[in-house]
Order: sequence, then C-alpha cells, then structure tokens
Amino acid sequence: MPCVLLNLCEYDTQKLVKIKSVKLGSLKWTLNGVILMFICIMLLWNKGYQEYDPVVSSVTTKVKGVAKINIPDIGEVVWDVVDHSGISQGKNSFFVATNVIVTQNQKQGNCPEVPPYGKLCRTDKDCEKGFSDQYSHGVQTGACVKFDVMKKTCEVSTWCPIENKKRPRPALLASAENFTVMIKNNIRFPAFNYIRLISLQTCAYSVSQKAPCLAIFIIPTNHIHSCICFRRNILPEMKDTDLKGCIYNPYTNPYCPIFRLGDIVSEAKENFEDMAVEGGAIGIQINWDCDLNRIFHSCLPKYTFRRLDEKESNKTLYPGFNFRFARYSTVSGVEQRTLFKIYGIRFDVMVFGKAGKFSIIQLIIYIGSTLSYYALTTVFLDWLIGTSCYSKEAKQNYSERKFESVQDREECFLCVSFVDEDKLRVVKKSRKKTLQQTKALSLHQRKNDLASMRTLISVMHCGPSRGLPVQNGQSGGLSRNTDTPLLEKPQSGSQAWCQCGCCVPAATLHEQLCCRLGKGRCITSSPIFSTLILNPSVLETALFYVDPLAELHEGAQLRHGAYSQFIRWRFGDSTPRDAVPVIPSCCVGRIRAEYPSPDDKYSGPRLHQTTPPQAEFNAQ
Ligand code: ZN
Ligand code: ZN
Repeated sequence: MPCVLLNLCEYDTQKLVKIKSVKLGSLKWTLNGVILMFICIMLLWNKGYQEYDPVVSSVTTKVKGVAKINIPDIGEVVWDVVDHSGISQGKNSFFVATNVIVTQNQKQGNCPEVPPYGKLCRTDKDCEKGFSDQYSHGVQTGACVKFDVMKKTCEVSTWCPIENKKRPRPALLASAENFTVMIKNNIRFPAFNYIRLISLQTCAYSVSQKAPCLAIFIIPTNHIHSCICFRRNILPEMKDTDLKGCIYNPYTNPYCPIFRLGDIVSEAKENFEDMAVEGGAIGIQINWDCDLNRIFHSCLPKYTFRRLDEKESNKTLYPGFNFRFARYSTVSGVEQRTLFKIYGIRFDVMVFGKAGKFSIIQLIIYIGSTLSYYALTTVFLDWLIGTSCYSKEAKQNYSERKFESVQDREECFLCVSFVDEDKLRVVKKSRKKTLQQTKALSLHQRKNDLASMRTLISVMHCGPSRGLPVQNGQSGGLSRNTDTPLLEKPQSGSQAWCQCGCCVPAATLHEQLCCRLGKGRCITSSPIFSTLILNPSVLETALFYVDPLAELHEGAQLRHGAYSQFIRWRFGDSTPRDAVPVIPSCCVGRIRAEYPSPDDKYSGPRLHQTTPPQAEFNAQ
C-alpha cells in the first residue's frame, strides 16, 4: 500500500539529448520557420481566427417582359407576365414560359385515340370497353373508328378533340430571353448580434459610413433605440433610378439584382433558343461570403448560374420541363376548354453562405491544433540522424546516446571479442550452438578508453621484468602453486570450435569460445598477455589502484584480478550495456593455470569497479 502511495507522489519526465551541432540547429530553426510560415499563411487564407454563422435568407422575385407570339390556328397574341409567369412554382423559384401548344374548344365527347398512345385496331374486337392506362387520353368505348385515311384507332370518351400537335420549333416564346427578373434577397446572421442594440447616432453613422449595418430599421424601445441591421442584395447605395436602368453583368455590374433571362442562361453555358423548345431548370446561386470584422468588412453577394436538369434531350426519356393547364368557358350552355401545354424554364434561386467574425476562442483552438506540426521537425531530424544521409560516425554516436536499451532479465546478451577482429560482437545466449558459432546481433567499435590506458601506463611503469620476481609467491604470502605447469596445453584440435589450438574443454555451450574467429596464433602467446594479465605485480598494482588498502592473502584475488584485467584490456568501456563480456576458454585456462585454486574449485569472479557493474562472465 505505501508503494502505491509513493507512486502517486512521483512525476515522470523525459530525458533529452542535446546535440550541439550547427548543422542540425540551423536545420531545426529553418524547418520551424517554414512550419510557422505555413501556419500563418493557412490562418490568413482559411481565416482560422473566425467563427462562422450560416446565412438565413428569404427570396422574392419579379419577372417583367411582354412578347408577341404567333400561335398556330389562333394567330398573333401578346403575352405579358401574367400569361408567361403567372403560375407560381413554389418557394425561391419562378417560371417563364418559352413554348406552348394550344388545343382550342375541347368538349366532352367520344373521339379516336391519338396513335402513339392508343393501339391501332381493325375491328371493334381489338378494343376493350372501359379500358384506360397511364398513357390514355380517355376511357375506351369499345369501338374501332377511323383516325385518318390510313389508320383506325380505338374510340375513347374524353375532351375532344384530343391534343395532337408537335411542339413548335423554334420556340414560340423565344423572345422571352429579353425578359428581366428582379431578385430580392434578404439575409441575416443571427449568431453575430446582427440584430444589435446601438444608439440612434451610431445607427445614423452606420448608414452614412456603410459600416456593418447597411440597411437599418430603427425601433424605439424603452428609450433605447434598437437598430435591426440586415443585408440585402439591393445595396443601400443603389438608388431607384440606378435599379431601373441596371442589368446584371458579371464584369461591369455584378451587384445589380436585375437579370436578363438570356444572360442567365448563357452564364449557365446554355443556348436560350435550344432550351426554350423543351424547357428546363436553371439554378441561380447567390453566395454570401461575409467578413464582419470592422477592418476587413465585406458582405457582397456573388451570383453563379448553372443548369439543373439533364441537358442532352436525346439521352433522357422525358427531357425539359412542361405542364398543362386549361381555361374554361361555356358556349351556349356547353362547357368548353382551351388546353395549354406550356414548356418553360424554371429558375431556382439558391442562397448559401456564411459570415465570419474574429473570435479569440477560435484563434486559440487554431493555434492549439497547429502545435503538433512542430513535431514534424523532430520526426524529420530524428530520421535524418538515424540514416546514412548524415555522417555515419555521428549516427552511431547519437543513437548510442539517444537510445538506451534495457533487456529483460530472462534474455542474456553476451559480448565477445576476437583477437582477429577489431570490433566487439554482441550475441544472444544460445541453447543450441556454441558461443563460438553463435551469430552476432550487432557489431560495436572498440573504444580507446581511459581504463585501458591507465592500465597500460601502470604496466609501462612496472615493466615486465619487475613483475617476475614476485611470481614465486613472496609478496603478501600468496599461495601460488608453483608445481602447476605454466601452460596446460590441451590436445591441439581436440575442441571442434577452437581456432587457436589452446582452448580447454568447456562444459556449457556459452563457455565454448575461442580467442580467434579464424585459425591462427592464440592470444595467450602474445608477450603482452603474460605481462598484462599474468604478471602478479601488474595485477597487484591494478588491485591496489582500485582498493588502495586491500589485503592480499589468497591466490583467488589475483585470479579474479586477472579476469578483470583481461576484460578491461579486451573490452574496456566499449561493452554495450546489458551485454556480459565473455573471456575465451584458452585465456581462462591460462589464468587458472597461473593462479590455480588449491581445491581445484573455481568460484565466480568478484568484479572490480573498473568493469561495467553488471558484468559477469562464465569463468567459474
Ligand atoms: Zn582456441
Ligand atoms: Zn586462444
């Protein structure tokens, strides 16, 4: 329980590696500068400092225009706005007729069906009394009657005569392209206090300066004059005379709310004459992209036009847009009607847009969301120093300083140094192969560390000759067994894994290690081996160097000193952490032969502080 409590009182922080490099430093600041520039550009471009409110709007339209048309069978007729646009098409849209088929004086009666809708017949048997389907003009009477000289069709009971004309081409009302429409569009942005409480003077000021409120109603409420400010597409600076004269033009008069229908259709990349024959639908889009900040204030409509229905009339089954209506009259007690099939263009006004206004909260959120971009610099630089693009030595140096690998206790890594290889090997302890044969996980550069240098200096001080007199066990009563032969030479080649011919048999796989990778002389045959590792005076110096007041009374101390000395010499500080340096079998055998245990039992070596603290080796 106290452990848990202690954990609560802890704080973990990351360890940083500071690389002092002009190259990396300037690269970091350049990258950060580029990122900052990008963030600032995106902030201004996307207006990330603004909060937005969608537009709320209402649309009214008024079409104007008169056309004289020549209707077949009727003659010249003048159509005004009531005739061509009288039928309301619903909210936010208006309709203009462009083509018409008129069928006059229809009366209730029986007449032959028109061929494409009713099947041809020969006798009355081909017709079914009371039959009608969705294409029929009426209900069949069961009689087969003459339609014209050639054909007979089933008789139907309906309004006669049945409408039977092709749509006129060119369109009868093609001159409708000169009609005009005035679109009134009022918008508001409720989220932005666009209804404000300000003084009467401010209201007047706003009007004259064209500042945020452009059209203003003044409502006196309880001594406070409220200005309801809203925008509309008829700008306040436009006078009545301006409106009467103007026609929208995207280049010369983009804010005039009066549009010529022909211009609308051509702006939608369509031909009015072609479209007038079958009719169609055109979208008028009004986009309000408003900036309500005082400095950058702008709130102007932008008009775009496009065709909404299928353009290719031969590719679609029911092209264009048409509907029918009738005018009824009674002639001498009999009801008659005139049927109109009207083709025309429906214009849908679509309003969308938003208003933006500076918001400190949005700005903070934006800045917060961009901070993570700076991590890209770290990712890039870490990648760079980890690749060979950067200097190889620096990479090794950085990764050793930056990454500290800690192994699980179960996994044992061993460090091996061969005399015929200038790098240290780290291998994983294998249960199947001898240590000699185990493949290297990684290679490490041997460092000229201070400890080895120190030892070398001490050797040079002593000199190999000075050490020799001590070897007869005269110093500190060392129990050195002089009877033991100096070198226990095993049978050459007796160990399959041995390359030097000097190795002693070893019981476990991880003890089966030679001093060489390939065949050749043994490291124990080198003069420095006997001077550095076996000379008792050197070993004593090394022991006293570590523990100045040590008492030397047993041979095991020197044997362990020799092991440590070997590790200092061959591995130094270069051994990677978590890897345990291993002394080759031949060297172990040679040291034991020099400083044998009286009872022939070898305990684990006591390691000295000069070797890595976690180091252990297999020499028992
Ligand atoms: Zn060997
Ligand atoms: Zn050897």
